[in-house]
Amino acid sequence: MFWSKRSIEKARGADSASDGATSIQRIKVGLAGNPNSGKTTIFNELTGAHQKVGNWPGVTVEVKSGTAYYKGFVLEITDLPGTYSLSAQSQEEIIARDYILDHLPDVMVQIVEGPNIERNLYLTTQLIDLEVPVVIALNMFDEVKSRKIDIHIKKLSQLLGMPIVPTIGKRGKGMRRLMEAIIKTAQSKEKKQKSVKVNYGHEVEEHIEELIETINLTGSLRKKYPPRWLAISLIEGDEYAASKIKSSSALSEQLFVEAMEIRKHLSELFKGDTEEYMADRRYGFINGALKETMKLPEKQEITLTQRLDSIFTNRIIGLPILFFLMWVLFQSTFGLGKYPVEWINIGINFLTDFTSRLLPNGLAKDLIVDGIIGGVGSVIIFLPNILILFLGIAFLEDSGYMARAAFVTDRVMHALGLHGKSFIPLLMGFGCSVPAIMATRMLDSRRDRLLTMLIVPLMSCSARLPVYILLAGTFFPNHAGNVIFGIYILGIFAALLIGRLFSSTIFKGQYSPFVMELPSYRWPTTKSILIHMWYRSKIYLRKMGGIILIGSIVLWFLGTFPRQQGLPSDLAQMKTTVEKEYNSEITQSESDMNKQTMLKEYNRKLAEIDNMMASRQLENTFIGRLGRVIAPVVRPLGFDWKIGVAILTGFVAKEVVVSSMGVLYAVGEGGGTQLSKALKSSEITPLIAAAFAVFVLLYTPCIASIAAIFRESGSAKWVLLSISYQTTLAWITAFIIYRGGLLLGLG
Ligand code: GDP
Ligand code: MG
Repeated sequence: MFWSKRSIEKARGADSASDGATSIQRIKVGLAGNPNSGKTTIFNELTGAHQKVGNWPGVTVEVKSGTAYYKGFVLEITDLPGTYSLSAQSQEEIIARDYILDHLPDVMVQIVEGPNIERNLYLTTQLIDLEVPVVIALNMFDEVKSRKIDIHIKKLSQLLGMPIVPTIGKRGKGMRRLMEAIIKTAQSKEKKQKSVKVNYGHEVEEHIEELIETINLTGSLRKKYPPRWLAISLIEGDEYAASKIKSSSALSEQLFVEAMEIRKHLSELFKGDTEEYMADRRYGFINGALKETMKLPEKQEITLTQRLDSIFTNRIIGLPILFFLMWVLFQSTFGLGKYPVEWINIGINFLTDFTSRLLPNGLAKDLIVDGIIGGVGSVIIFLPNILILFLGIAFLEDSGYMARAAFVTDRVMHALGLHGKSFIPLLMGFGCSVPAIMATRMLDSRRDRLLTMLIVPLMSCSARLPVYILLAGTFFPNHAGNVIFGIYILGIFAALLIGRLFSSTIFKGQYSPFVMELPSYRWPTTKSILIHMWYRSKIYLRKMGGIILIGSIVLWFLGTFPRQQGLPSDLAQMKTTVEKEYNSEITQSESDMNKQTMLKEYNRKLAEIDNMMASRQLENTFIGRLGRVIAPVVRPLGFDWKIGVAILTGFVAKEVVVSSMGVLYAVGEGGGTQLSKALKSSEITPLIAAAFAVFVLLYTPCIASIAAIFRESGSAKWVLLSISYQTTLAWITAFIIYRGGLLLGLG
């Protein structure tokens, strides 16, 4: 008998006739599993004599179907060919997958060969991608027991988001519970959305999101196939899935062009083998799920990954190792960065001198030297530090260590009411808050998403690094690396504490267990790391040419106009007094030596008057007037009005804090380490610098992050909360540091 729609109808007709009732609920069930997992055995147990054998149309692979009756339900069961995966590489795989996609079973049952659970779960990850309701029959449970393999079934079932029923197919054990689970799953599937996803890493996940957006544009495609599965198949270059899309979508052209570009980008990243990468992530998912739910008895061959994991994910030393690695990272960010920073600095000083000499005195020269070179130059010299930071992060990510970091922090996160998965967006926050906020999409509940989004900006982004390096390098030159590390740690603690606070007040609720992927360790390729770094520098340089350049020019204008004409009367009087004094004294003096000293003294006095003039001029400009408005707000923190203005401009982008200081402090001196010198001779003490750095760490996210929070949360309420709580937190913390330091006599 051939397997066709008609024969199914006939089978159905016969069944309902024999039942003689119309209220009977039918459940379509597909049995999938690796070859020799015991599918046929269980199929026979469930269906008894009620089975039919047929060939799939057009192919010769045998597919059997049958019915089981349980508590008034009719289970129409199809025994699919055994496969290790659903990648459509073989006829069997295609049949199994087409059954799921085209016949829309109510429930898929995967028969898992218990003793080989790890390999078997690969198929499970693909069923998860297909977003069908799945029940796992953990078969050969007799062997699991006799081999003393310890599997924590309840927890594993939570992690995979599907019921798991232990069975011994050979002896017909566990069949009732299996049918109960099938029925329960079939009935609850409408209500419950699948929440467990295999996470393919933020790079691929971002592309999956992009593709899903395009797929969702065609209603037909979206309804017909699970969008996430389509997106993943396109990324994996699955021809068979592609042909399905072609035949059913008006949008296919655009989708393919998009998918092609993504594949090109990914193949650059993954050395041309995206499929291997994806498989690796799936095994990482399995590895992570089994790590805490399965114990193997006897010593088996220990792989390198297992050996490394026993160190890096160790309960006791795992967390200290993470802290140590971070410390090394921030130490080298500053320490190794010092030299190239010095070279760039020399270049900038040369440029300053050169343009100063080349251009005639006047406004244009001031604009170029003080505004543009002073502003942009003071930020651009930190490019090497940023690059080193990203080199470190890329290395830790590509080597597989970051996944372990997520693993060891998971417990801490739970204790603080945060979802363990939040670790990934939080980690991305070290780079830039904007993609990190977007990455909160990988969290399943809105509560977790909002909560994470609100604390991501507390993780110090790379835009803030120049501020720390400037301040730490100027005021704590011997401990700069430690100071920077301390600031980052403070940010992490603030994020965790605020997370705890919010999760017990605004966002009360449950979080669900999930799988921490543990892909195997790999030595990162130079190429992929270079690609990461190049990408970062491009963003950084583009920012220099854009927002920071514009910010510096605007600030220069605001700090130059309105101009005062001539000397104010008191200063003019001072000047004439000095001149008179000098003239009378110089004529009276006899020796040349005396004349020399007096000339020096005279010049010093004139310079003093000039400085007074300059600072009075600055106070009179727009920026000075703005400064006067801000000054009272920041004065309790020990900040002068210039710091106040720099902080205010940092709302545009955090690097602008540095370029603003370049313009405000180093008037007429160009950028580079000149700014550092100017700061040292200003009234800023190390204590004030510390309070300032912490303020910059904690205060309001920049405009781009605010926009991202608005987009992702869809509500101005959260944006307001974000701005206000962070700025308040920053003010209070800086206040405590400054006032506390004064009390301790540190000021
Ligand atoms: P299929 O290839 O997935 O259809 O697997 P079969 O149903 O043909 O089973 C493969 C082998 O595993 C057969 O020899 C079965 O007797 C055996 N088998 C099935 N279930 C169990 C079980 O629960 N325990 C043990 N020990 N063997 C089983
Ligand atoms: Mg079989």
